[in-house]
Amino acid sequence: MDYLKSAEALERAFNVSKKEGWKDIHFATSVLYAELLFRQEKYSELDRHLKAYDKDLGLQTQKDLYLMLLETKLKLLLRADDPEPAQALMKQLKLSLPESSPKEKVTIFRALAYYYTDTDALKNTLDVSLEGLDLATSLQDVPSQGFFLRKIGDTYNYLGQKDKAVEYARKAAATYEKTKEELFMSKAFWSLSNVLLEANQKEEAIVYLRKALSYFKSVNMLKGLAFSQYSLANVLYTQEKYQEALGTVKENISLAKAAGVYDMQLASMILLSDIYIKQGLLEKANSVNDQVFSILDRFSRSYYKANFLKKRYELKRSLNRTNEAFEAIEQELVFTKKHLEATSENNIKTLQVKFEVKEKEDEILRLSHQNDINELEAKQQHQQKLIWRLSTAIAVILIGISCLLFYKQVRQRQKYHAIALTDYLTNCPNRRGIMQEATHKIQNQEITIAIADLDYFKKINDQFGHDIGDLVLVAFANAARKTLSENDKFGRYGGEEWLFVLGTNNKSDVQDIFSGLSANFADYCVDIKANNPAINWDITFSMGAIISTQTSNNLEDLIIQADKLLYQAKENGRNQLMIA
Ligand code: GH3
Ligand code: MG
Ligand code: MG
Repeated sequence: MDYLKSAEALERAFNVSKKEGWKDIHFATSVLYAELLFRQEKYSELDRHLKAYDKDLGLQTQKDLYLMLLETKLKLLLRADDPEPAQALMKQLKLSLPESSPKEKVTIFRALAYYYTDTDALKNTLDVSLEGLDLATSLQDVPSQGFFLRKIGDTYNYLGQKDKAVEYARKAAATYEKTKEELFMSKAFWSLSNVLLEANQKEEAIVYLRKALSYFKSVNMLKGLAFSQYSLANVLYTQEKYQEALGTVKENISLAKAAGVYDMQLASMILLSDIYIKQGLLEKANSVNDQVFSILDRFSRSYYKANFLKKRYELKRSLNRTNEAFEAIEQELVFTKKHLEATSENNIKTLQVKFEVKEKEDEILRLSHQNDINELEAKQQHQQKLIWRLSTAIAVILIGISCLLFYKQVRQRQKYHAIALTDYLTNCPNRRGIMQEATHKIQNQEITIAIADLDYFKKINDQFGHDIGDLVLVAFANAARKTLSENDKFGRYGGEEWLFVLGTNNKSDVQDIFSGLSANFADYCVDIKANNPAINWDITFSMGAIISTQTSNNLEDLIIQADKLLYQAKENGRNQLMIA
């Protein structure tokens, strides 16, 4: 989140949640609002705000939020002249480390890194920053990663390891670029431009400096402006544009003073004196130098103090002020020693720090590798799952389609089969159909084979047309269906000839079937005759029937015999059954 650009919304959320009594939201917004006030450099307002929320017991139960409030509080305390309260809070935070969650630890490490940077404890800064970076990397907390990377870069800068400083400043800037925190991104750009300047990579330094400056201008952040304006003046100085540098640096001295950034005020004053020296205005340089000397304590780092004193020594020497020159060189030694104590108490210590750094770096590399590998593995697993699901789905669909096609084919075959065995006109089995049934039935039981033939059918066709003839054929089929039981089958054997396969070997049953069929046929013909009154005779049929026995159950023989009996029935005057 970009606090400064979301300032209005944040303030509104803070006030509304307060008014409405939305406790949880209000806790969160009061913490964010504190940080906003700090970034807006409204320090006295922040002081009042902290006094109101610092002792809030409800807020204290939400440890992660409360720690963030303390982080802001520590940053504010560090601005005061009295070092005691800040130190006490730092100790309190440090003590709460063991019982804190990883996320809370990151907040504490951030606060500690800020504290140590401010109090010139470089080794400690490095220690907590590396630990914090470790945790932030494993928690994938990108803004905190950027914060720690910047602190590490700055520390390398003070340790004089320019390459490392540039490397980490670049990492910090790249990490912040992934977030929406423009303020920190700009600070990272500013840091990077600074170390690039020191490493004499001017062109690139200017690009990042411009980016940082435009942001600080857009949010009107005095501190940021003071930082970047100083760097700008420095660039102009190294480009030997002394007149332009002079204007910028003078403006920056008052800007830094107003913002309370003493480091920048002093650095700008030193730069001013350097410019005067280049312009040959040694007296002017001397007077600025004396001013710096009188407030040197405000400089946070021994390193800066030592650098200044070295310059003072050279200036005083060239002005032949020997006593002051020696005083300067004495003090330079004091601060150089202090700086060395802070960074490398002795050679062994330096080696130790370097070793620890290397170790941590390897671990961070391993962690980020592990993260990459985990991510990759997760991705691969996901893809595999997807492929598996997809292939299963495709398989299921294919099986489904195959089943459907197979089912359709079976149905179609059944349909074709049925069509091939069915008479199209009467919808009863055709010759092939009834022969199949007969072949099947004759194997299992004793049956009766009968053949029926309509009487004088030709006459109906000739006198009333084939359509009426067809109706008579349909009427006969319907009558047969109605008459026969489940166990009896019949089909259309030829034009108006019908084959019956009756599930009985009892003559009187067959006689009954014949009588029933005759009556039903007559019934079904009533309508036909009513519509065609010229048919003034009974429409009848004749039948020959033969009962199969175990000795004689050859179908073809039985049909021939039934046909003979049918012929006899016709001879005998039709409309009758001949049975044997
Ligand atoms: P009979 O009593 O001796 O059997 O006399 P019939 O007139 O029935 O004798 P025949 O066997 O000579 O006549 C059968 C007629 O059936 C001949 C043919 O035109 C007719 N026929 C055959 N198939 C069909 C058909 O599908 N529809 C119609 N309307 N007539 C058919
Ligand atoms: Mg016939
Ligand atoms: Mg006939």
